[in-house]
Amino acid sequence: MMKNSLDVSTLIVGAGPVGAMLALALAQAGVKSAIVDTCDPAQVVETTFDGRTLAISHGSHLIFKALGLWEEISAFVEPIKKIHISQANHLGYVHYDEKDSNGFAMGYIIENRHLRRILFKAIFNHPLIQCCIPDEVKSLNRQPFFIEATLEQQEKIKVPLVVAADGRNSITRQQAGLKAHAWSYHQLALVGMLKTEFPHENIAFEHFLPSGPLALLPMQNNLCSFVWSVDRQYGEHLLALSEQEFSAQLQATFGDYLGKFELVSQRWSYPLGGVLVPQLIAERLALIGDAAHVIHPVAGQGLNLGFRDAVTLAEVLVDAARVGMDIGSAQILERYQRWRRFDVLTLTGVTDLLIRSFSNDSKLLGNLRMIGLRLTNRLPVLKQVMTQHAMGLLGEKPRLLQGLPL
Ligand SMILES: Cc1cc2nc3c(=O)[nH]c(=O)nc-3n(C[C@H](O)[C@H](O)[C@H](O)COP(=O)(O)OP(=O)(O)OC[C@H]3O[C@@H](n4cnc5c(N)ncnc54)[C@H](O)[C@@H]3O)c2cc1C
Repeated sequence: MMKNSLDVSTLIVGAGPVGAMLALALAQAGVKSAIVDTCDPAQVVETTFDGRTLAISHGSHLIFKALGLWEEISAFVEPIKKIHISQANHLGYVHYDEKDSNGFAMGYIIENRHLRRILFKAIFNHPLIQCCIPDEVKSLNRQPFFIEATLEQQEKIKVPLVVAADGRNSITRQQAGLKAHAWSYHQLALVGMLKTEFPHENIAFEHFLPSGPLALLPMQNNLCSFVWSVDRQYGEHLLALSEQEFSAQLQATFGDYLGKFELVSQRWSYPLGGVLVPQLIAERLALIGDAAHVIHPVAGQGLNLGFRDAVTLAEVLVDAARVGMDIGSAQILERYQRWRRFDVLTLTGVTDLLIRSFSNDSKLLGNLRMIGLRLTNRLPVLKQVMTQHAMGLLGEKPRLLQGLPL
């Protein structure tokens, strides 16, 4: 038997960090939503499920503060106080510290599983969020003034707007017929956790090599997480090594600045690619997070970009709802798309350029990169612009990104 229709304003497909943030931002402003995810939350937060650690930017930390979640999250983060960027076989480096970021931490590292656990708890406990997890959207029936969704568990949901937050292979995006340009970097990101002989002193290291970048990120208890992007074949070889052999290879690649390495976790691997979606909206549909764009993890920005989608969309919808407008109308969705376009395109372009210009061993490009790194290090204005972008603070900022309530 069919259950009753749910009385909500928005249906969010995907309760990853970005979908969950949208639900919470809407709920904070009194807007009800339903959120559907196929996953089993208990499995997602298991230690073995996902080895990713995430760099949360200063801007994203302001959003969490405004949503009242930062206190809980802060118990699991390690702040980044300095960033050191260098390249193999060439001189030149860039060093950022708190002087470049007006005394704020440059970002915070957290294990994905902790972030997801906190977000799941927040959405499950909020009275204005109807969680349909695990469940799946069976069909979306588009009508002129609403969309009717039928869920696998036979729930029917009639809403003016559906939001796709279902990740890089978004079924919701595909079903709406929105084109996506996808490409592969032919790289694997190997991730895991290390114990280092010397303390990390809250420095994040990004070391560019012809085979791809190696990042070492400061974690709690003086551990470091690594994100080592390598071409696929070499990656398979590294995964097959014993723990000691792997640690030795990683050590040889990074150098001895942090002393001896010891691998203290299993290794995970993620194939790397990018996705650019020219249209972030369709009829009564908006895309956010990885459903809207996928970028290389080199700058640790993909999720932060998605959080900015979520809070921008929340602001556009809440402002429209407050003056009685139809939140799924083309006019409202266009406003969201216009607002997000510049940030998405610039970050996609910059990360792609970084990977293509650094992941090769051309002598000429090596020298150009060296000049670029030296110039950046010596030009305070350029450094500050780059820091502001990495902190997620460039451009027109939605209210939550300024730490203000909706
Ligand atoms: C190695 C690596 C390191 C990274 N490091 C960083 C970093 O330091 N900082 C940073 O900002 N970003 C980083 N990223 C990027 C970041 O992980 C992603 O941008 C982020 O996870 C995207 O979040 P999301 O909520 O959009 O999608 P996802 O996290 O993919 O969540 C999508 C959700 O949708 C659900 N779903 C899928 N299909 C359906 C369906 N049909 N119906 C219902 N639900 C569905 C899934 O179960 C999932 O819960 C990294 C990525 C990689 C690979």
